[in-house]
Amino acid sequence: MPRGKGRRKLRRDDETRELRDVSSQLETVNSAEIVKFSDIPLSKKSLDGLRESGYSEVTEIQREAIPLALQGRDVLGAAKTGSGKTLAFLIPVLERLWAGQWTPLDGVVALIISPTRELAYQIFEVLCKVGKNHDFSGGLVIGGKNLKEEQERIQKTNILVCTPGRLLQHMDQTAHFYCDNLQLLVLDEADRILDLGFSHAINAIIENLPKKRQTLLFSATQTRSVRDLARLSLRDPEYVSVHENARFSTPHQLKQKYIVCDLPEKLNVLFSFLKSHTKLKLLIFLSSCKQVKFVYETFRRLRPGLPIMALYGRQKQLKRMAIYEDFCRRSAAALFATDVAARGLDFPAVHWVVQVDCPENVDTYIHRVGRTARYEKDGQALLILMPSESEGMLKVLEEKRIPIEEIQINPKKVFSVTSKLAAFCAQDTEMKHWAQRTFVTYLKSVYLQSNKDIFNIEKLPTDEFALSLGLSAAPKIRFKKESTRHDVCKFDFCGDDDDEEDDEDTELLKLKPVSATELTETEDFFDDDEPPRDNVRKKTKGSAIKAVTRVQAAKKLKRKRVQLNTKIVFDEEGQVLMEMKCGGEEDSGGIDVAEAESGLRKADRDDVDRERERVKAKHKAQKKRKRRHDNSDNDEEKETSGSKKKLVSSDEGNLEQLALKLLSNT
Ligand code: ADP
Ligand code: MG
Repeated sequence: MPRGKGRRKLRRDDETRELRDVSSQLETVNSAEIVKFSDIPLSKKSLDGLRESGYSEVTEIQREAIPLALQGRDVLGAAKTGSGKTLAFLIPVLERLWAGQWTPLDGVVALIISPTRELAYQIFEVLCKVGKNHDFSGGLVIGGKNLKEEQERIQKTNILVCTPGRLLQHMDQTAHFYCDNLQLLVLDEADRILDLGFSHAINAIIENLPKKRQTLLFSATQTRSVRDLARLSLRDPEYVSVHENARFSTPHQLKQKYIVCDLPEKLNVLFSFLKSHTKLKLLIFLSSCKQVKFVYETFRRLRPGLPIMALYGRQKQLKRMAIYEDFCRRSAAALFATDVAARGLDFPAVHWVVQVDCPENVDTYIHRVGRTARYEKDGQALLILMPSESEGMLKVLEEKRIPIEEIQINPKKVFSVTSKLAAFCAQDTEMKHWAQRTFVTYLKSVYLQSNKDIFNIEKLPTDEFALSLGLSAAPKIRFKKESTRHDVCKFDFCGDDDDEEDDEDTELLKLKPVSATELTETEDFFDDDEPPRDNVRKKTKGSAIKAVTRVQAAKKLKRKRVQLNTKIVFDEEGQVLMEMKCGGEEDSGGIDVAEAESGLRKADRDDVDRERERVKAKHKAQKKRKRRHDNSDNDEEKETSGSKKKLVSSDEGNLEQLALKLLSNT
């Protein structure tokens, strides 16, 4: 066996020959004849990686999309959830880099963008597995880690798996980070990445990329928007939609059911469902972080008999990643999640997906239920619909070819948790606070939905809903409307928000930042014509929500001869949608004149003190956080329509090790 230089030369000669063979076979490959990965002209390194990872036969999307992508075509790949789209883009990425003989010195050659950190992490894991015999470098850039360390490594990384916000941060802040050699851009969950929530980041990223490149877009609900395709400068893209003519748009092994249930009954039904499925793995979707947190905190105290976890965007990254991995490992558990877990995640063997809150559209429905019944496995999905939602939702599900049937729940199996929740709220003010926030956030999310045939706030039994959360009455809500271009509504909840993870809650509903001048134009439908006290105004300056003291509110109501202890809900045009008696309980959230001025004045003073404490604590926490995380990323994840938030967090350990695995091959 030749040694040293001679041996390297022989290897190079072998590889050159292999390269020549592979590229000539590619010209004639016929996808109809492909059954196994070994039927596709691929490098030995990729074939070995696939075999060692346990992949042998191709799936339909892999059979159709991989040859086209290997020939350099732009591909729009659409295939049902769980049908193997990840390898359909990762294999071409590895092969194009191999064929181009790129080395770590060339910097970024392929970019793979994912909408969430967990999905990026998962893609990176698969890349490490199937690409382990190759010699190029790969990196995971999802924020949270020390920016400096990442900056040093990123310049020598050939394949970057990232979230949009963190990538943009590097484009802005990392000297010598260029994408001039970029050959391939991949957007996984492309329609999500191209929608409004990411538009700013994606437009800025695309501006920094060379126009001459190959682009691959994949999703189960693919975009066909000409505008999107123009934005990405696609060149004569090949639309590969392997299930377009399938009878149904969801996996055939997935059994889908729905029940009709009143809003105040939802938690009872959910708890009862958990109690009768304690040996299974359940993924449960709710509409907001607040809902998830409240249900998680209360249900774990109620002990339904299986491990309970929660995953939502605002958790610290380390915690979020630990929960993700823990749920992957378990065979029986219930994970409560927001739509941060709706797309792409390949949790092994989820038995049931339960949608407690109706998804905002059919695409979200498809992605949520797609977390089960993945790659030839069975799975079940349960959608809980309120009577007001059922007709509209069933209609759109049918239009999108989703087979779903109604089932009834055995009433004997339904336990009521209402009195327990009421006891929690009575004993624990923090719990009551969460219940109140849950109430408000849920109404917000319904109000903001665009499909009014399905989401109708007018039809919600709000008082009963509040009781079902353990509250003695519904918190009062005010709807405010921006008098500017957009119909952006803000909600004001007369309670305090001291949840450290939720600092940006008031941001949740703003599509764009509200400037100081816009604020002065804000039209409050209660027509708040008396200016707030100076000290309060000072504290809320620059914030989207004006503080209104209870005394002022009482005076205003008296002036306007508003019937007290009545809750009024307005629509976008300022029309009264509903008026409801709140009752006179101490906790009603309505205004009780009987308590009169002295009580109110005291409450105001308390509010001011509390506000002062809150702001102080918030500043302290901010400073601390700033010190700790010199760096933050600014990925956005939307949870309710029009919502927007920042993620600031940290992750180390596993991700770092994975990154090194590929890097150590260099
Ligand atoms: P999608 O992105 O279409 O939702 P994934 O790429 O996440 O699907 O794949 C779903 C599951 O199928 C994963 O667990 C993956 O390992 C498995 N899988 C993908 N391709 C194959 C294949 N060719 N053979 C066996 N399993 C596969
Ligand atoms: Mg996927």
